[in-house]
Amino acid sequence: MEITTQASSAAQTASDKGLYLDYNATTPVDPQVFAAMEPYFKEYFGNPSSASHHWGWTAENGVQKARMQVASLIGAKSSELTFTASATESNNWVIFGLLTKLREANPNQPIHFITSNVEHSSIIKAMLAVEKQGVEVDFLPVNQFGQIEIETLHQVIKPHTKLVSLIWVNNEIGSINPVVEVAKLCKEKQILFHTDATQAIGKVPVNVTEMDIDLMSFSAHKMYGPKGSAALYIRGKDPKVEINPLIYGGGQEKGLRSGTLNVPAIVGLGVAAEICKNNFETESARMTSLRNLLWTKLQAAIPGIRLNGHPTERSSINLNVTLPGITIESLAPKIQKLGISTGSACSSGSVSISHVLKGIGMSAEDARCTFRISLGRWTSESDVHRAVEILHGAIPT
Ligand code: PMP
Repeated sequence: MEITTQASSAAQTASDKGLYLDYNATTPVDPQVFAAMEPYFKEYFGNPSSASHHWGWTAENGVQKARMQVASLIGAKSSELTFTASATESNNWVIFGLLTKLREANPNQPIHFITSNVEHSSIIKAMLAVEKQGVEVDFLPVNQFGQIEIETLHQVIKPHTKLVSLIWVNNEIGSINPVVEVAKLCKEKQILFHTDATQAIGKVPVNVTEMDIDLMSFSAHKMYGPKGSAALYIRGKDPKVEINPLIYGGGQEKGLRSGTLNVPAIVGLGVAAEICKNNFETESARMTSLRNLLWTKLQAAIPGIRLNGHPTERSSINLNVTLPGITIESLAPKIQKLGISTGSACSSGSVSISHVLKGIGMSAEDARCTFRISLGRWTSESDVHRAVEILHGAIPT
């Protein structure tokens, strides 16, 4: 399946509604994904657990096909994938599911988990919750680019470390963590390695089998699939990874995740994965060149602009920049048509700064002058020029 040239209506970025450059937040559904999902709301509406009639079988076939499409994208076996409703759920499941499994085996054993201080909140908050339940948790500091250092990880590993969970590609600043090296170290030390690959799929090559990843979370809505559809990869052998369910009930997904399957959304995830796989090289190259163009043009238009995150080891779609001395609030009236994301949020008069920007040592003052701009499948070169024009025009002279 090739990428369609027909842009989905909402994805068509440069329009009166504005210019959407927030693909790290979510992506529009690819028209081919939408077309594949549609029959599963209508004629193929059956429950895949209904094993005695063709309505059930058709739905089940749709789910199995999607499982194969997703498995093929990440180098897994389809039996190693469980569908969930969000990467948030997948991340929580790993942490709580492993904890209950370990406690079941030996209620008194000491348990140590390692993560970092620039993870998505679904990891940070779940780790804080298990910390309250007696798990020792280390939140690794990161370097100036937001990446963990292998040596730092090495130093905090303890005899009772059971899990290392690290984000692969950072959702705010785009930096790529050295996942392959981390996985190798964890394998050597016989520690389970989980990665939150929500921003990595389609942006970096992923092969869970070759890369020795034990558990991996990801979500359809960051890769042109629907919201509310995601998966958790759980390694099936060498080693066979076992975690307890988070959701109990009718025993769907081999008893690992109960609840009637969201068939259209799963079919959508499958097709999104297939498109991603078939177009990986060309799409990555196009995104990298557009992102580089955007950065070159921004530097020329806005003297003093600074790039956050790693200069080269970064997501092909992400730029995170600081305009020293110019707060995003001050630009707001003139950039309303630009769909970008800011590094701080204002609520009840107080400003809260992103923990990721704090994690790379940014001051609160600079965080207020920082924004993320992320490109996607329907971003064109003229969109890039337009974005620079809008931003340049908003800067006070
Ligand atoms: N992890 C990362 C790195 C993310 O970017 C996101 C979404 N912002 C999530 C997890 C949560 O994904 P979902 O929206 O599917 O819950």
